[in-house]
Amino acid sequence: MNPSRRLLLKHLAFRAAEISPRDGLVSIPPDGERFVAWPEVMERSKRLATAMVAWGVRPGDRIATLAFNDHRHIDAYFAVPCLGATLHPINVRWNLEEMVSVLEHTRDRIVFVDAGLMDRAIALADRCPWIEHLVRMGPRASDGDPPAVRSGVTISDHEELLETSDPIADWPDPEEHDVMAMCSTSGTTGIPKTVAYSHRTTCLHTMAIGLTDCMRLSGQDTLLAVVPMFHALGWCFPYACGMLGSRLVLPHRDLRPERLLDLLVEHEVTTSVAVPTVWDAVLAAVTASPGRWDLGRLERIVSGGAAPTASMIRGFRDQHGVEVIHSWGMTEINPVCTMSPAATTREEAALDPDDRLRHQQVAGRPLPGLTLEIEDEDGRPLPHDGASIGRLLVSGWWVAEEYAFGHPDGERFGADGRLDTGDVASIDDHGRMAIRDRGKDMIKSGGEWISSLALERAIGDFPEVATCAVVARPDERWGERPIAVVSIAPGASLDLATLQRRLAENFEPWQCPDDLILVDSIPLTSTGKIDKKTLRTRFLV
Ligand code: AMP
Repeated sequence: MNPSRRLLLKHLAFRAAEISPRDGLVSIPPDGERFVAWPEVMERSKRLATAMVAWGVRPGDRIATLAFNDHRHIDAYFAVPCLGATLHPINVRWNLEEMVSVLEHTRDRIVFVDAGLMDRAIALADRCPWIEHLVRMGPRASDGDPPAVRSGVTISDHEELLETSDPIADWPDPEEHDVMAMCSTSGTTGIPKTVAYSHRTTCLHTMAIGLTDCMRLSGQDTLLAVVPMFHALGWCFPYACGMLGSRLVLPHRDLRPERLLDLLVEHEVTTSVAVPTVWDAVLAAVTASPGRWDLGRLERIVSGGAAPTASMIRGFRDQHGVEVIHSWGMTEINPVCTMSPAATTREEAALDPDDRLRHQQVAGRPLPGLTLEIEDEDGRPLPHDGASIGRLLVSGWWVAEEYAFGHPDGERFGADGRLDTGDVASIDDHGRMAIRDRGKDMIKSGGEWISSLALERAIGDFPEVATCAVVARPDERWGERPIAVVSIAPGASLDLATLQRRLAENFEPWQCPDDLILVDSIPLTSTGKIDKKTLRTRFLV
């Protein structure tokens, strides 16, 4: 195939430099806010590519990043894959052992490191003999002793590399099935699993992100990317903005709700993407200080990575006129699979707002190119009637075929191309999928399943509740029983009897939690999801 016909990132991600040359990134690292126009993004990537070529980087080499969302991380995001190498963003919230266990497989030669994480990178280089270069991403280092690092490793300054390298003349022409990035799944499921994304899967996924019925993203948008670029390729939003010419606001490390609200207002952000725990906190902060932030420019936000509560979706709609678009995905799916705006079809647009709100609470329809199915425990297909609940399988254009380095869970990739997601779902007669639970989070009590997610949704809607998680406690008589762990809103109170009485309206008595544990805060995983593993070890053994 002629290279110009191949689905290569270089054909797509730099489009903004042509069509929207005055727009670009607003990056806010600790050394100060910086606007980088799209043509400059391209220029910087080409300079970085030259520096990597000088180090002998070859197609297929793996190049890691250990960084937050900012313009320097974007340089690597664009330069590494377009050079034919493999971008490997490392989750900065992992501990050293977790990082080493992943790098033992990926064997990255170079690590681009945020200046604030240099100590961590030096410790990593100590443990990983294959690391040759650390690139310090921050303001030019002032004079002084360079940090001590094991022999055989050079430390370079990112900005200096850009200043001293000419732009590469031409990008190479990899094959579209060549790997352009690798990402490892977050800790919700235990030991990390690494997934490879090809140019082809990423291009198709990025194109789909830009469809109207996905999240109505356009070149007129200003998108605040809260979802970290080290999680599942930042859901490909850097590439989608580079494709469409949208403005991209990159907040770096500080994601406190008050700061995010300041950024939303100051940069006239129209759309943003984050996990629901972030949106819960943002909504609580804006509600606690009436009049302080005017969210009038914000049109729609994407909440994905975990289940949102109805009260959050309703709160944004009723108090701020903001549409919450629910998304479901996983690292193994590049990562977005569904988006659920309030209405996509003519039929939905005609519904009253509260009916549409019901649709926003479910994960929604798969993006074009993906297919969803549900099966019972014996592998029999279940009807799409909205009531039948079974194992969720997904197949299609950007679903991974395997873990890059194997893993016991590799069995979930079927020979027929279907991925067993590990989630439990229903699908209705309009193709809308609702996650009912994560397989391993379902609670089996007396041989019957209880959905922790359904209980979390119901309890999360109580006005007294800030955050809530429901986990299984081993039980001699029933096998497992549900326990609610709740952090309470400021000034509120809640007891077990009240919780059980209110839940009794919608749940059978046996489905209600046996215990209520009040905590100051619920532990979160490195990607901001509720950390059930820690909850179980802290409260249930
Ligand atoms: P990760 O690969 O770390 O992104 O985790 C993927 C898992 O997160 C999925 O298999 C789901 O269990 C969970 N997840 C992602 N999005 C949602 C959602 N919208 N609702 C419920 N669970 C979700």
